[in-house]
Amino acid sequence: MKLSQSFTKTTKTTPADEVSRSAKFLLRAGYIYKEMAGVYDYLPLGMRTLDKIIQIIREEMNSIGGEELRMTSLQPKAVWEASGRWDDDVMDVWFKTKLNAGGELGLAPTHEEPLTRLMKSYISSYKDLPRYVYQFQTKFRNELRAKSGIMRTREFMMKDLYSFSTDREQHLDFYERCAQTYLKIFDRLGIGDSTFRTFASGGSFSKFSDEFQTLCDAGEDIIYLDREKKIAVNEEVYNDETLKQLGLEADKLEKCKAAEVGNIFTLGYKYTDALDLCYNDEDGKRQKVFMGSYGIGPSRVMGVIAEKLSDDKGLVWPEEIAPYKYYLVGIGETGEQKAAELYAKSPENIIWDDRKTARTGEKFADADLMGIPYRVVVSEKTLADDKVEIKNRRTGETKLLTLNEFISKLS
Ligand code: ATP
Ligand code: MG
Repeated sequence: MKLSQSFTKTTKTTPADEVSRSAKFLLRAGYIYKEMAGVYDYLPLGMRTLDKIIQIIREEMNSIGGEELRMTSLQPKAVWEASGRWDDDVMDVWFKTKLNAGGELGLAPTHEEPLTRLMKSYISSYKDLPRYVYQFQTKFRNELRAKSGIMRTREFMMKDLYSFSTDREQHLDFYERCAQTYLKIFDRLGIGDSTFRTFASGGSFSKFSDEFQTLCDAGEDIIYLDREKKIAVNEEVYNDETLKQLGLEADKLEKCKAAEVGNIFTLGYKYTDALDLCYNDEDGKRQKVFMGSYGIGPSRVMGVIAEKLSDDKGLVWPEEIAPYKYYLVGIGETGEQKAAELYAKSPENIIWDDRKTARTGEKFADADLMGIPYRVVVSEKTLADDKVEIKNRRTGETKLLTLNEFISKLS
């Protein structure tokens, strides 16, 4: 990417109603654009980071047998009436709209009902089970409060996977594999050290659900963390009985603020009952399908990472999800010429700050603000030794590499 040809620009100012530091940096660095409270556009840089987060999650979901599809956000009223969740008193975040042709529809807050109905066309026998179906899909929720930038929005990206199993035993096998895979995902995303499996309230089919909570001051949840055991308890289920059941001791727990980045749930027969999703078992007997749901919010994850891994100069992306790996600045005429050559070798990995209008100091400040992992400088001085200077955004460490060493890193 050549900055001179990019339509976005960094800015020093942010909307007055924006309070979270992640949102301020993401807006200032040109990752997102604010339409209104709780509604954002993803600009080219923001899209690249969001897509990289999505790709990591996709690879891991595929590795445990997930099949990806994409469902519509427009949902028919009838399928939600079947489960009793069409009512605004039951589901308080609905966006609903009327059809010109008559009737009403809802904008997807989640997809249990429509997917359960869809699967009725494809599941009829125990041989069709288990199935793990997922998507990256836009959800709409009329959230009362939207204050933490992209951490809580009214339109957001969700990875939602749903499991369809013959019984609880088959279900629990996948549930546990998925929980382990979630930990791997958060590791790959660079927040493994601060993300904990957390016991939270369950529902009618299991005592607990499992949340994945990332320690974060801007988070909205309170958790009680056992650092040694690497598990936590959400305050909503924190009581003597829960601690006893989980073998935890109150005085070993740390009270922390955290943001829920993922959530897995045993649904049991709730939706298969409502929508009559059944299969024939080996004896030809009709049985209900047992379900689970497994969510991650890629856009919330992006906000949490921006919040946690930033410093006073701006964003600090982990390499795996940075929009580009290198931020290249040429100084002086020979430096600019060499920068052009280096850029041409790997435009997919490099932001080349070729702006004639910006001074070197401004370029350095923008490199820091955007949080690109490595800033690369070529100047007459470095070229005298056939070298480039590389600065690590996270550690601040500066190194000189020969041109050939740098070029071999690009391929
Ligand atoms: P919360 O408790 O934060 O309101 P939830 O429990 O309603 O979230 P789920 O319905 O389980 O969330 O959604 C799965 C995931 O989607 C969450 O773990 C979170 O990462 C993400 N998510 C939920 N609501 C939002 C939102 N308004 N904006 C961005 N991401 C969200
Ligand atoms: Mg929750």
